[in-house]
Amino acid sequence: MGTEKSRKLFEDAKKILPGGVSSPVRAIKPYPFYTKKADGSKITDIDGNEYIDYVMGYGPLLLGHNHPSIKEAVTRQLDDGWLYGTPTGLEVALAKEIIELYASIDMVRFVSTGTEATMGALRAARGFTGKNKIIKIEGGFHGAHEAVLVKAGSGATTLGTPDSAGVPKDFTKNTLQVPYNDIEAMTEAIKAYKDDVAVVIMEPVLGNIGPILPEKGYLEEVRAVTKENDVVLIFDEVITGFRLAMGGAQEYYGVTPDMTTLGKILGGGFHIGVIGGNREIMEKISPAGPVYQAGTFNGSPVSMTAGLAVISTLRKEKVHDRVNKAGDLLRSGLSDIIADLGLDYNVSGVGSMFKVFFGDMPYNYQEALKCDTNKFNEFFKKMLTDSIFLPPSQFETNFLSVAHSKDDIEKTIEAYKRNLK
Ligand SMILES: *Cc1c(COP(=O)(O)O)cnc(C)c1O
Repeated sequence: MGTEKSRKLFEDAKKILPGGVSSPVRAIKPYPFYTKKADGSKITDIDGNEYIDYVMGYGPLLLGHNHPSIKEAVTRQLDDGWLYGTPTGLEVALAKEIIELYASIDMVRFVSTGTEATMGALRAARGFTGKNKIIKIEGGFHGAHEAVLVKAGSGATTLGTPDSAGVPKDFTKNTLQVPYNDIEAMTEAIKAYKDDVAVVIMEPVLGNIGPILPEKGYLEEVRAVTKENDVVLIFDEVITGFRLAMGGAQEYYGVTPDMTTLGKILGGGFHIGVIGGNREIMEKISPAGPVYQAGTFNGSPVSMTAGLAVISTLRKEKVHDRVNKAGDLLRSGLSDIIADLGLDYNVSGVGSMFKVFFGDMPYNYQEALKCDTNKFNEFFKKMLTDSIFLPPSQFETNFLSVAHSKDDIEKTIEAYKRNLK
């Protein structure tokens, strides 16, 4: 089947939406497909083509599209209205669940997106310490706000320059970046500005550039050096939270930060963000303390309901056992193909995250940049024609959901084999 309807719609869209889309990664070249509906592991476009989906909303849909338990819970909530501007029992119930699962979290503030979560967490950490500088990991993504939109490629102790027009230099000068898996660089950056480093924010697994996994001992070393220097450690688990384990990467790797941000999976496809942390820091947040944070949609009854349904479904359906096994199956199948074809490519991933790097296995952002992106882009298009929807970039993680069947995985492995050739 063709994609003529999508092509036409994109022509219209380009005139009235910047770049034709509502978020940049969706601007697939030469034009994206427009979705009509999705169910389970499949997504169907307006021309009637059906794809096996490994984008999964860029992470949230660990339970697959259109999961009946989430739909049922949200529909039930809609009968009672969907925005009150008052507290609800739902937010108290969901907070209790999260606190029980995440060792680093004694209290939470619910927001609407991961962007708001990291923005609020950084503000809380700065308010708590009274210091200014933040350290992030090169290639780590924490949403689209000023302090974290910093250009890659400078040394550990050089001050950040903006990676977006419209961000004044003054807004990024307090952001330092260090390479992932490099404890010396992080230690050097902390020591260089010893009296002014408030916080280290990092994805425990670099999910927005791969995935790239932590080397053995790295997260423990980060925990140690931040603790020694009174620097708040934030794990941004917007991707890994509820994915690697119920308790996220911090449970999976056994390393406990001071604060945690969550989002994506917890909302089951509805918008959610969580600022979580230890009591001392969280009590700085307004109205308990002086760090301002507010939002019309904070604690949205629909998102809270979805969150409670996600957690109970993850438990009831033993989702992690199943989806992580599927991940192992897929990764080993892909590794076999690459070995058979004699390619110098590498399969990265953990749990339900995976990616074929078109080059050596990277351990940080600069290494990932060496991959053959032209070859990848060609491959991506072939896979799409073969009804497999992968994230359209060498640097975006592929996500499995519990809805992906053995048959889906076999078809996917076959398609990789055909198109890698
Ligand atoms: C997606 C993402 C965010 C931003 O979340 P939004 O809901 O898109 O604002 C922040 N941090 C990480 C690690 C993410 O993957």
